[in-house]
Amino acid sequence: MEVKYISTRNKNIKCSCKEAILKGIADDGGLYVYDHLDELELPLNDMMNMTYEQMAEIVLSLLLPDYCEDEIEQCVKNAYETKFESKNITPLHIVKDIPILELFHGPTCAFKDVGLQMLPQLMSKAIDNSYQQKVMILTATSGDTGKAALEGFKNVENIAITVFYPNNGVSNIQRLQMTTTDGFNTKVCAIHGNFDDAQTNVKKIFQNKKLKEQLMKKKIILSSANSINIGRLIPQVVYYIYAYKEMVQQHQITFGDEINFCVPTGNFGNVLAGYYAKCMGLPIKRLIVASNENNVLYDFLKNGEYNRNRIFYKTISPSMDILISSNLERLLYYKSGKDTDYICKLMNDLETKGSYKIKDELKYDIQKDFYGGYCTDKDCKAIIRNVYEEKGYILDPHTATGYKVMEEYQKEDSTPCVLLSTASPYKFASTVMEAIFNEKYTDEFTCMKQLSIKTNTVIPQSLVLLNKEKIVHKDVIDKNNMIKYVENTTKEIFHG
Ligand SMILES: *Cc1c(COP(=O)(O)O)cnc(C)c1O
Repeated sequence: MEVKYISTRNKNIKCSCKEAILKGIADDGGLYVYDHLDELELPLNDMMNMTYEQMAEIVLSLLLPDYCEDEIEQCVKNAYETKFESKNITPLHIVKDIPILELFHGPTCAFKDVGLQMLPQLMSKAIDNSYQQKVMILTATSGDTGKAALEGFKNVENIAITVFYPNNGVSNIQRLQMTTTDGFNTKVCAIHGNFDDAQTNVKKIFQNKKLKEQLMKKKIILSSANSINIGRLIPQVVYYIYAYKEMVQQHQITFGDEINFCVPTGNFGNVLAGYYAKCMGLPIKRLIVASNENNVLYDFLKNGEYNRNRIFYKTISPSMDILISSNLERLLYYKSGKDTDYICKLMNDLETKGSYKIKDELKYDIQKDFYGGYCTDKDCKAIIRNVYEEKGYILDPHTATGYKVMEEYQKEDSTPCVLLSTASPYKFASTVMEAIFNEKYTDEFTCMKQLSIKTNTVIPQSLVLLNKEKIVHKDVIDKNNMIKYVENTTKEIFHG
C-alpha cells in the first residue's frame, strides 16, 4: 500500500487510496487529496488513440496506485461496459460550432453516473474481506446524486446505502427515480430542510465518535458517496481527456493547443476533476465555473470572499442549488501551497461565521485558472429556447446555465471551449417544454412524451419505465433525526 492521500486539514492524517475510498472523509473533517498531484504526468500523446475505457485505466492507475492492473481493468469493465447508452460513454457533439460533451448517457441520465458507476467497484475491491467488513454509505443529495448512487450500489455485497434528500428540493422525476429503487441494501429518506441541511447533518454523523465506535464493534464502517469521495472524483478526470482527444479528432484543435471547459457547477466536484486533468498535463487554459442564482462561487472567484450567509434560491437547475461547495476545499489546499493550517482556519471560519476571505495572492492565482459566471432562471429559459430554435439542440437547464456563462466569457477569450452537458433534457422536461414551447404540464410523463413528439427526439429508456415502477421508499423525517435513522437502518440491513 502506498500512502498517497492526506487530509486537507492535517498533514499527519495520511492513508492509502483504498482507505481513502472506503472512508470518504478524513477523521478531522478534511477531504482526502492526492498530495503529489504535480508529479503525475498523463501520457497524452498515447492517449489520443485510446478508447474511453483505456483512458480510464491509465487515469485510475496513476491516481490509485494501490489497485493492481487486474483490479482496475475489472472496475472499468464493470462500471462502463454495459451501463451506458453510448459506447463512447461521454460523446462529444459539435453543435453548429459549439462543442458539447454529453455526460448523461448513463443509467440515470445525468453526469453523476460516470463517477457513481465506478465508486462501488473501487469500494468493493477496497473492502477487507478476510475481516468480514461491511460498509454503510451515507449520501445527501440535491436530486441526481441519490439515484446515481443507488444504481451504483444496489445489490453490491457487504455494502448498503442510505440516501437523504430535501423533501421539497427535487423534481418529481428525481423523487420517483429514487423512491422506486429496488435492491436489498437500499434506503431512501426525505428530510424537512434543504440540501445544505442534509449535507451538513451527514457530515455531522461522520464526525460522531459514539456512533462510529458502536458500529465498529459490528465491523461496520460509514462511508460516503458524495462528490467528496475521491473514488467519484477521479473517474471524472477521464472525460476531460476524452473531450480533448475528440476535439483533436474532430478537427476543432491541433494536438497541443490549449482549450477551455465550461462546467455547470454546484459542489465543485466536476470542475475540480478538470483541474486535476490540468495539473496532470492536459492543456487546459481556463475552467469556467457556471452557477445559477445561488452564485456564491461567482462572488468568491471575483472578490475572494466565500460567503454562504445569503438567501437560498430554489431554481430551475436544482442540482446546482448549493451554498457550500465542498470540493472547493481541495482546490484551496493545492493553491495555498498545501498549507493545512490555513485550510483549517478558513474552514473554521466557514463553520462559525458562514464565510471566509482568502489572501489576495491566492485569489489572483485561482483567477488565473478559473473564471466564474452565473445565470438567472429567466436567462436560462431564454437560452434553452434560443439554442433549440437556432441550432436544433435541446439543453437541460443546468447545461443552459453553462451555455449562458460560456457565451459571455467568450467575448473576452476566443480559446476553443467545450461545454459539459450534465443532464438529459428529459430529466427536466417540464422546464424545457415551458422554455421552448411555452406549454405547462402537471404530469411529467405527458410532458416528456410531448417533448419527444414536438422535437422528434427519443426519451431515454430508464425514464420511460419510471411511472410503471412501484414506490418502495416512503420515509420522511425531521432533519434532526437523521442520526437515529442511520442507526436503525444499519441494524435492519446488516441484522446487527
Ligand atoms: C450534480 C450536478 C451538477 C453539479 O456538479 P458538481 O460536481 O456538484 O459541481 C450540475 N448539473 C447536474 C445535472 C448535476 O446533477
